[in-house]
Amino acid sequence: MRPTGKLHIGHYVGALENWIALQGEFENFHLIADYHALTTSLDTGDLLANSLDMVIDWLSAGIDPEKSPVFRQSQIKEHTELFLIFCMLITKERLERNPTLKEQVRDLNMDTIIFGHLGYPVLQAADILLYKGQVVPVGEDQAPHVEITREIARKFNSSFGEVFPIPETRLTTFARLPGLDGKAKMSKSLGNTILLSDPPEDIQKKVRRAVTDPQKVRRNDPGHPDVCTVFTYHKKFNPGEIDEIRAGCESGALGCVDCKANCTAKIADYFAPMREKRAYYEAHPDEVRDILHAGEERARAEAAATMAEVRHAMQLGELEPVIPVKT
Ligand code: AMP
Repeated sequence: MRPTGKLHIGHYVGALENWIALQGEFENFHLIADYHALTTSLDTGDLLANSLDMVIDWLSAGIDPEKSPVFRQSQIKEHTELFLIFCMLITKERLERNPTLKEQVRDLNMDTIIFGHLGYPVLQAADILLYKGQVVPVGEDQAPHVEITREIARKFNSSFGEVFPIPETRLTTFARLPGLDGKAKMSKSLGNTILLSDPPEDIQKKVRRAVTDPQKVRRNDPGHPDVCTVFTYHKKFNPGEIDEIRAGCESGALGCVDCKANCTAKIADYFAPMREKRAYYEAHPDEVRDILHAGEERARAEAAATMAEVRHAMQLGELEPVIPVKT
């Protein structure tokens, strides 16, 4: 994840929830993509403070740093080294076809694309393959990047020998949570988010403004839940009442005001334990720094081992001492 500040509930349902579920099954590596944060704007705010804030969200949500190292991309030099090598394995045309890039250019009204933004998936391939990632739990927007990673891994293996696994994408059920404004994706840059750390009163204000079915103007108008953002949130955070809400909305018995109040309460309850844990970590910043430091050491050792293999496979290894032959 890029350290763009506090995480929103789309990050949670699209990726973080999966990370936590996979902790028992795999050795997870959780990367703070601080270089990637620079690809769409240099105006990133304080990257270190944002990174620490994000780690607090991860820990509060249930990431266990003993099992799964958390670390910053910028602190492991091998990411940039492997990125450079991978740049030789993919064409500019392939990267220009990336649908996620096209979407960002449209959503952020970009006139030009910087080289680093075009190369975003190549750096991501290095992030994944340095740790020989087999399963990549991401939201839908990142799935095309994992596809590019697979192509790069295959190209490397066929050119230099089998070094990398071919990783798989692992999507959650809510791989693309819509924003409060009804846009397809909840995203900080679109300003349509609910944060994991939002207190109940902020959730209430935000959900009150959420876009619903435009045809349901008055309370008793029959609604179409499948086009309503709030209904999508109910599906995730209030599955037990979903049939009742659908029936009430469609018949006109349930109005948007009551439906939103119910949704607010369910979201607030769902994230209450995380808000409590967040308060603990906010009061113990040294503990958070220590966790990051330890994660970076573990990641560095892993990355160095993979890079030694890569260099060796590419005949870029260290000089071996030459033993003179006696005549
Ligand atoms: P990013 O902020 O782009 O670094 O995204 C971090 C992770 O969260 C990626 O796996 C994204 O696919 C996922 N993600 C971000 N926004 C959403 C969303 N609205 N719905 C589902 N997943 C998301």
